[in-house]
Amino acid sequence: MRYLCFLLLAAWACTKQPENRPAASPSPPAVATTSILADALRQLLPDSIEVVALMGPGVDPHLYKPTPADLQRLQQARLVVSHGLGLEGRLLEALQATARRRPVVEAGGLVDETLLIYPDRQTPDPHLWHDAGLWRESTYALADTLARLLPELAETLRRRADRLADSLGALDRWAKDELGSLPADRRLLVTAHDAFAYFGRAYGFEVHGVQGLSTTAEAGLHDVQQLIDLLVARRVPAVFVESSVPRRSVEAVLEGCRKRGHVCRLGGELHSDALGAPPDDSYAATFRHNVATIAQALRTPQP
Ligand SMILES: [Zn+2]
Repeated sequence: MRYLCFLLLAAWACTKQPENRPAASPSPPAVATTSILADALRQLLPDSIEVVALMGPGVDPHLYKPTPADLQRLQQARLVVSHGLGLEGRLLEALQATARRRPVVEAGGLVDETLLIYPDRQTPDPHLWHDAGLWRESTYALADTLARLLPELAETLRRRADRLADSLGALDRWAKDELGSLPADRRLLVTAHDAFAYFGRAYGFEVHGVQGLSTTAEAGLHDVQQLIDLLVARRVPAVFVESSVPRRSVEAVLEGCRKRGHVCRLGGELHSDALGAPPDDSYAATFRHNVATIAQALRTPQP
């Protein structure tokens, strides 16, 4: 999976049209699979290039299947950026077909492999955007690849990548300050699925998801019971639902805590695998929302 981007780019290089052949549309858009990647592309590419996201706010990329409109968007794209690392499993076939005609960049595959987390030692965790510092590195690597594909925009891309890196670096420092004031025993983050391992590594949290790395697998009764045991034993004040995952698994955990006499609150809704709706519809606003929600809920003492 990690090397899919290179394979896709190689496949495109073998089949691409001659340079002087007119494009199908005067200004074909850049297409991103997720709203998170679309935001990065809008920051990097000049405003004259339209950026389209296949998935909007609250959409779960693990389960997303392409619609006929998506297939048309992929066919008409100037280039396509996917996240990869197993995130968009049900889009893989459509992306491979697209790569025979136009460049498809797998952004997650551009990240230094040693910076990725492998929970089972084999499959990389794709949720690296929850570490703003690592997302900064990812967007830099994406800008480099885009500059090679679009050499006429290389200077613009590098200038805009520097600007984006500055703002992501500031966001990372802000999150470290904001979360750094939480006592050590409050740094336990329980969410609907295992999306926050990079967040935990970057900002010093132990993290647990009711469901696993992908939402394609339901939580087992044993997993739910183990989480309830943990929340009761550690007197954890809050757990979190996610905007792209049904609430029932987290609600079952809360109910289990109540039956054991431990009042654990719903700490709020996090945007795990998609950006939020306006006004949280940028990466920066979504990240700030998540950090502020976690800090506030875990700082508040148990009633
Ligand atoms: Zn996920």
